Amino acid sequence: MAMANSVTETIVAISTPPGRGGIGIVRLSGPQAVPIASKLIRAHRPLEHSRAQLADVIDSENVESGRIDEAVVTFFAAPNSYTTDDLVEIAAHGSPVVLDVLVCGALGLGARLAEPGEFTQRAFMAGRLDLTQAEAVRDLIHAQTLTQARSAASQMGGALSHRAAPAKQSLVELIALLEAGIDFAEDDVDVTPQAEIARRLDELTPPLTSLEASFARGRVVHDGLTLAIVGRPNVGKSSLFNRLVERDRAIVTASPGTTRDLVTERISLGGIPIELVDTAGFREGAGEVFEEAEQLGILRSHEALADAALVLVVLDATQPINDEERRLFAAVEGRPAILVLNKSDLVKNGAGPAHKLQFAQFSYSALSTSALTGEGIPELREKILSLTTGGAAAEAGMLTNLRQHQAVATALSALADAAKANASGIPHEMILLDLYRALWALDSLTGQTTPDDILNLIFSTFCIGK
Ligand code: GDP
Repeated sequence: MAMANSVTETIVAISTPPGRGGIGIVRLSGPQAVPIASKLIRAHRPLEHSRAQLADVIDSENVESGRIDEAVVTFFAAPNSYTTDDLVEIAAHGSPVVLDVLVCGALGLGARLAEPGEFTQRAFMAGRLDLTQAEAVRDLIHAQTLTQARSAASQMGGALSHRAAPAKQSLVELIALLEAGIDFAEDDVDVTPQAEIARRLDELTPPLTSLEASFARGRVVHDGLTLAIVGRPNVGKSSLFNRLVERDRAIVTASPGTTRDLVTERISLGGIPIELVDTAGFREGAGEVFEEAEQLGILRSHEALADAALVLVVLDATQPINDEERRLFAAVEGRPAILVLNKSDLVKNGAGPAHKLQFAQFSYSALSTSALTGEGIPELREKILSLTTGGAAAEAGMLTNLRQHQAVATALSALADAAKANASGIPHEMILLDLYRALWALDSLTGQTTPDDILNLIFSTFCIGK
């Protein structure tokens, strides 16, 4: 994205989705926002900070032609606006014609069309938002579940930066301590003992390690995941699928091999978006002849299996395990999977003991369900949820994307290097290199640390020169 970081330019864009709607908003930001807006509308009073007022929308290129709409106009004066520049929002009716007149009018008056995300980028450049908060704005807009929206909103409020802040503060203090020992050695500043550095590094690590671990849940909350339902024909895959999506989506019939194609559906389980894939029956039988369509379905099943983050292997509790199913177990070996013994309603006292013995050798969690009666379905949902989130509970300030995870991982590895260097008695100048590497990584979460921040700390903490 080629974006100018110049607040001398005034930018304009339609901020509401394309198409017609009750309301359409045109946003202007920059030093000329007010003079330009004043020519696009006819207001009864001058624009006042944080005040909404009714105004006529006029065609600025044909002023005499009368009003073309009525709008609510809100002005936010710099620096107390989203972008920190002067910002005007014109909320007209959601007519593309009216909104176009407003935007074209603004362009004619010297504004420039905003690049995608540029309003938020200006907020970031001005330091009103850090990078994680800017990312959260995007995540909130793209949220598909309430849990995702909550997670984004908490990050937008700075939850992630706040969580990383104490560790970063301790790191900056340690850096200041070592810098002072080097720069002001003649001024009687004590050189920090090795044990003290080790202690401080030890204290720094656990909060960052737990932050790094939050990615297990943060990632699935953010991205969701794919769950494949596999098993022989007629074991009840489609019926289970329907139970999980709670709607009749896949076709259920009593003859084997009807789910020839992949049926996918997005469901929200505990607020985590899960793409559910119901596959054609798995049958790899040697010498067996299939219709072409079923063959294709089986091929697709393998593809779905390859892509899925979690696999439900469905068995019929009334049937003994056969070779096909053994092959299926081999195919999911080592993958996160749940064994589902379906049709429990047909088996007295749960799954038959013979069955239990047979799958005891497989290392997967197993549970009994009946897609017919709904028995065991809540437990299945629960199990899916606990496996997808790695058992991690919801927490404030989770890492939700790879960039954030990379930042914390880099910081941790740099701190480990620093600890090693310290243990082997390497000069502080060298330890500092590792510490700065950790700091830069954390900076990308919480905003930049400037040399002045460190100098200020040196002076305020050590009273050098008094
Ligand atoms: P798929 O081929 O694995 O997708 O299996 P289906 O979902 O199409 O189900 C095959 C047949 O088994 C249908 O007649 C279902 O009504 C029936 N069925 C599915 N689950 C259960 C269950 O839990 N109990 C009983 N009694 N029948 C079931």
